[in-house]
This record gives sequence, structure tokens and C-alpha cells, in this order.
Amino acid sequence: MIYKRSSALFAEAEKVIPGGVNSPVRAFKGVGGTPIFVKEAKGAYLYDEDGNRLIDYINSWGPMILGHAHEPVVNAVVEKAKKGTSFGMPTEIETKIAELAVSMVPHIDKIRFVNSGTEACMSAIRLARGFTGKDKIIKFAGCYHGHSDSFLIQAGSGASTFGTPNSPGVTQGTAKDTLLANYNDIDSVAELIGANKKEIACIIIEPVAGNMGCIPPKGNFLKELRLICDANNILLVFDEVMTGFRLAKGGAQELYGIHADIVCFGKVIGGGLPVGAFAARNEIMNYLAPEGPVYQAGTLSGNPLAMAAGLAMLSELNTDDKVFKRLAEKTEYLHKGMFKVLNDNGIAHTINRVGSMISVHFAKDEVFDFSTAAKGNNDTFKAFFHGMLSHGIYIAPSAFETWFLTDALTYEDLDYTINAVHKVAKTL
Ligand SMILES: *Cc1c(COP(=O)(O)O)cnc(C)c1O
Repeated sequence: MIYKRSSALFAEAEKVIPGGVNSPVRAFKGVGGTPIFVKEAKGAYLYDEDGNRLIDYINSWGPMILGHAHEPVVNAVVEKAKKGTSFGMPTEIETKIAELAVSMVPHIDKIRFVNSGTEACMSAIRLARGFTGKDKIIKFAGCYHGHSDSFLIQAGSGASTFGTPNSPGVTQGTAKDTLLANYNDIDSVAELIGANKKEIACIIIEPVAGNMGCIPPKGNFLKELRLICDANNILLVFDEVMTGFRLAKGGAQELYGIHADIVCFGKVIGGGLPVGAFAARNEIMNYLAPEGPVYQAGTLSGNPLAMAAGLAMLSELNTDDKVFKRLAEKTEYLHKGMFKVLNDNGIAHTINRVGSMISVHFAKDEVFDFSTAAKGNNDTFKAFFHGMLSHGIYIAPSAFETWFLTDALTYEDLDYTINAVHKVAKTL
């Protein structure tokens, strides 16, 4: 494949945009080479500026669960745009999507819409702190909750040490209120709670981790988190920015039967427009301004175009009873196919999968937390990435990302992909 025009566009972009991209994950820093510029997309396929067609396994990092340029979503946005693009005043459609979201997701009474997953998580922990009157939060090493200061805290080696910022610009003062536990390790959580009695407002977690590759919660881990939160008057915050409206109508809460106190959304909820949201029971949500004392606001929050896209998307997911089952079946098919050809070629790997989230870790042992994910062979991943790309298959340009399947994928696409994995595996 030729990437002449993409390379030229990237060179232009680098002059006026830091690193040539508006979000670091889009750059090819982890795999080498220059990023591909997209011209348009339809269904399961991307078409780049050089005229190449790529099967897309990123899908805008999740939102395009029904495929690109999905007609009901596009039509809803176009129709809305003709009537004005922003008012900064209440509109009926905000209530409509709120009602639908509250009906689909368990244990939530009210929802507040924002513009990104970052904003949702940032606001959720402010609300948790305001509601509980406590300052500290626990997060898990390797979990991503957006780029707000409190979450950019590095995994230390010991679970019970204070976090240190992993970006310049995040102050020690902020970092000291974020405690780090290890994913799938309830003892690391108990230890932190023991050492910081009555100081912890909330535990925030990706109920299925997706930002260190896909890592499912083990056995009773989520249940034990719920119990430890109850016993210590700590709120449990599920960051369902990836899993919400993807794993089930009611997200991971529904899939695992666990009741979270606050739930964060993004990605799918906006149908490809910039939307995030956070939700909880009345008692908690009524703490938010203008009803309560915790301040949170947004000029473009609940934007009509964004709400139209989100409402169209959620309506489709709500009425199509089989969509999540179909997605999970396609993903299982891909899993089995890839497992076989990688095994046949003697490639050490571990595939993790939940619903339509899947990732191939080039590590031979079980991957269940950040340190086991970090053991993956990055050179193998780089070669795999570029090999797949040469066959017209676009996966995330980082070993620490999940693939997101879209319902627009056909079994032919999946067979083509498995065959490509087979060919690439021979070269690894
Ligand atoms: C993507 C993501 C976020 C951040 O959402 P943005 O819309 O990129 O700000 C937060 N949490 C999780 C789990 C995510 O995957």
C-alpha cells in the first residue's frame, strides 16, 4: 500500500499541530511510521487519502459500534443542524436521550451530559468528593479515565505508595490524593483503605479494562470491590466510557450484575459526536449544581447535534434485541480464528475478550493487570501492526489498546482478517 498523500499531509500537520495530531494515540509513536489520514468511512471500512481501503478495528476508539456513517445517526444530525447548532438553552431532545439512557442502564435515576469521557470522569470524582466529604480516590494502575490531573498518576511498584504524577504539569498536591491499586488485586485495595481510613471518597475503575489492552475482571473481583466500598462508606465509580452501551444495554453493570454508585459514559453514547455523561441515583445526582453545591457546567453540554447523534445511536441499540449477541459472536469467531493461526505458527500470545472488546497480547502468560500486560513483546506487536496494515487491516497503533468490533463487519471480513493474521504470523 502507498501512503504518499498521508505522509505529505502529516508533514504539513506537524508544522501547526503538536506532533501533527490532536490526540497522542493517533500518532504512530508506538509502532513507527506516519499516521494514516482518513478521507471518509462507511460501515466497517475506512478510505484513506491515498485511496486505500482498510477494515477498521478501532472504530473511532469505540463509538462506531454500528459502523461508520450509519444512516439513522447521520440523518438525525443533518436534520438537527438545519435548525440551529447550539443555543445554550434547554432543548427537549436532552430530556429524550436522558430518559432513554436512564431506562437502559440499571441503578441510575439521573444523568448529566458533558462533552467528553474526560469531563465525565473528572466531574464524577468531584461529585463523589462533594457527596462524601472526603478527598482521596483510588484508581488502578493501567486504567485510563481521561487526561484530567487526578488521573495522570503513574503506577508505582508498590500498591500502597502515593502516586507520582506521570506528566509534567500535574502537581504533587493533586497526585497525593490519588492512590494506586493493582487491577484484579483486592488485597491491594484493602491495604490502601486500611492506610487511609475515612479519607477515601471513591474507587474508580474500568469494569473491563480497555486501556492496557483488554483485561477482564477476574472471578469475584468487582463483587469484592462493591463489598469493600459498602463496608467503608466509599462510592464505587464505574468508568463505562468504553463498556457502556457496548457490552450490553446496561453496560458492565448489567453484564456482571454489579451495582455502581456513579457511572461514566462517553464514546458510544455520542454516536461519534463529542459526548460524555455521568449518572447516579437521585440522592447523589441532586448534589450537582444548580440543585446542589457541587459545581459542574458546559457551554456546549447537551448540544443538539451531539444529542441527536446519541439519541439515534441509543435508540438503535435499544430496539435491536440481538445486536450485543451478534457483536459478541463475531468477536468470538475472530478470537477462535486468530488463536488457531497464531498457535499453528508457534507465536506466543494471549487473547483477551469480553463482548466486542478484544486484544492480542504478545505475552505467553495470562494478562490480568498492568504489569502482566507490560510483559508483552512490543517488537512482535510492531511487526504485527505493520503486517496487518499491509493487508488493509487497521488495528490500534499501540500494544496497549483494545480492538472494538462493529456490527457492520461481515463474516467475510472476519475470515479475511484471520487469513491476514495467518500470513503475518509466518513473518513474525
Ligand atoms: C476514552 C476513555 C476516556 C476518556 O474519554 P475522552 O472522550 O477521550 O475524553 C475515559 N475513560 C475510559 C475508560 C476511556 O476509554
